[in-house]
Amino acid sequence: MNKTVSIVVPCYNESEVIDYTVEELLNLANSIDGYDLELLFVNDGSADDTEAKLLKHSKQHSNVHLISFSRNFGHQPAVSAGIQAASGDAVVLIDADLQDPPHLIKDMIDLWQKGYDVVYGTRESREGESPFKLASAKWFYRILNYLSEVPIPLDTGDFRLMDRQVVDQLNAMPEKNRFIRGMVSWIGFNQTSIRYQRNPRFAGETKYPLRKMLKFGLDGILSFSVKPLKLSIFMGFTSSAIAILMLFYTVYVRLATDHWQSGWASMLVAMLFIGGVQLISIGILGEYIARIYNESKNRPLYIVKKNVGKERDDETSQSS
Ligand code: UDP
Ligand code: MG
Repeated sequence: MNKTVSIVVPCYNESEVIDYTVEELLNLANSIDGYDLELLFVNDGSADDTEAKLLKHSKQHSNVHLISFSRNFGHQPAVSAGIQAASGDAVVLIDADLQDPPHLIKDMIDLWQKGYDVVYGTRESREGESPFKLASAKWFYRILNYLSEVPIPLDTGDFRLMDRQVVDQLNAMPEKNRFIRGMVSWIGFNQTSIRYQRNPRFAGETKYPLRKMLKFGLDGILSFSVKPLKLSIFMGFTSSAIAILMLFYTVYVRLATDHWQSGWASMLVAMLFIGGVQLISIGILGEYIARIYNESKNRPLYIVKKNVGKERDDETSQSS
């Protein structure tokens, strides 16, 4: 019997590109011998006709499945839903906009058959992105890697193949602020990379505005590191040390010189500095507490409105 590979595609307002993506992936399915490909599209509450288009494809092709959310829950929940529903011996994650070339999936499958459990795509270059996106992504991955307790590969997105045993581990992780590329690094097993050139979007606009990018970046850093908390302790000690030095200086000025009435500027600077350090520290603390709060509410990660082509009974929701 053939092995099955599931391909998970999160889609949010991808009407302009979705037909091409389905076509490309169906072509790939036909050109790969010895494997059955299951295509799982997760419609993340699109406001355009992405859902209608996907519905049509899922009726035409028995290997096209559609999971539709009740609203926009975000990229990582969409990917998580696809991974949950996937039944393959391996699962591939790929964006809907064809920025990651689908033909690389063949190479990923080859490496998987050689014994690797995770094959991830590392971007050698990225075409058609704004200078801001390039610079912020570059620094984000480097800072994240420096802070994280597990090494997270640089310049690597979610485009990857994962063996069933990794997928099962991922599904068993209940956390709500999901940063999948980091979670997969944390899981371990035998991982390797393929280097590739990332294309510009085939059509449409990016669905990651600055606001979503910031949330995603914070999730990555705060879920994989407590170093920011240590940083606030460090800042606290530094500002205390500076305060003590200033104290000595003040006493010296008062006793040994005759111009001691001056010093308003230095007092103001010290006050502002300490106030700033305190606010930053409280902010960092707040971010962790907000995440604990989110986890403790224990709401489902997403709500499924429609499930087409997959014989699943949970029409309402599922979380872990
Ligand atoms: N996406 C999603 N939900 C969102 C935002 C994005 O499912 O809230 C999907 C989107 O349709 C695409 C993938 O996530 O398939 C990556 O988004 P995009 O290409 O816009 O990000 P970029 O490549 O610009 O970082
Ligand atoms: Mg994209």
